[in-house]
Amino acid sequence: MILIMLGAPGAGKGTLGKKLSRMIGARYIASGDVFRKIMEKDTPQGNEIKKYMEKGKLVPDDLAIEIFMSKILPKDLTRDILLDGYPRTKKQAEHLDKILEERKAKVTAVVSLDVSNELIIDRLINRRICPECGEIYNLKYGKRPKQEGICDSCGTKLVQRIDDNEETIKDRLTTYEITTKPLITYYKKQGKLKHIEAFADTSVEELVQKTLLELAK
Ligand code: ADP
Ligand code: ZN
Repeated sequence: MILIMLGAPGAGKGTLGKKLSRMIGARYIASGDVFRKIMEKDTPQGNEIKKYMEKGKLVPDDLAIEIFMSKILPKDLTRDILLDGYPRTKKQAEHLDKILEERKAKVTAVVSLDVSNELIIDRLINRRICPECGEIYNLKYGKRPKQEGICDSCGTKLVQRIDDNEETIKDRLTTYEITTKPLITYYKKQGKLKHIEAFADTSVEELVQKTLLELAK
């Protein structure tokens, strides 16, 4: 099974995706985590993608596809996977369909997570992440760290992502509207779209249940 999560930055794809994959025994893969790891290294590729990522811009398709092929898509597709953050453009989606077809596989379903922009902005400003294990926390919503500023899972000092500031967040939302939203239509046409709506008071558990119900349809 190959599942894809679509949704604006800050919609909560990571939180839902991680929990959902644990429930169904799939491997959770977030393209953003892979890109951030590469960006943090002082290599030509790391420095190249940093130029885009720190401004909240998408990495250009050719480079994003190259990274996807070498570091994101598992060689073994027999284990179920949940892809968060990839594909994010029509070109990436078309390329993914082609690659999967060559490997006798296909996208099973696409979960589109819908959240209002106001809630997204407030959540992202209050988001903190663990640079070591990728765990996500929030000062205002949902999961707060037990000890202020420290990761519950591995004890590392939490940080704010360089692209989690109001101006960059607005740019990321615009990019999502223009570049990624068309994928909703793309997958709807393929009959694979599962639409999930989240509000400020929707718990992760509720979202997981809703998603499981949709996937079972
Ligand atoms: P967001 O919260 O903005 O969805 P992610 O952690 O998924 O953040 O991604 C962070 C950044 O990594 C993006 O702003 C972009 O620069 C880069 N990135 C991640 N996935 C892709 C992709 N599929 N195509 C191009 N760039 C990507
Ligand atoms: Zn951690």
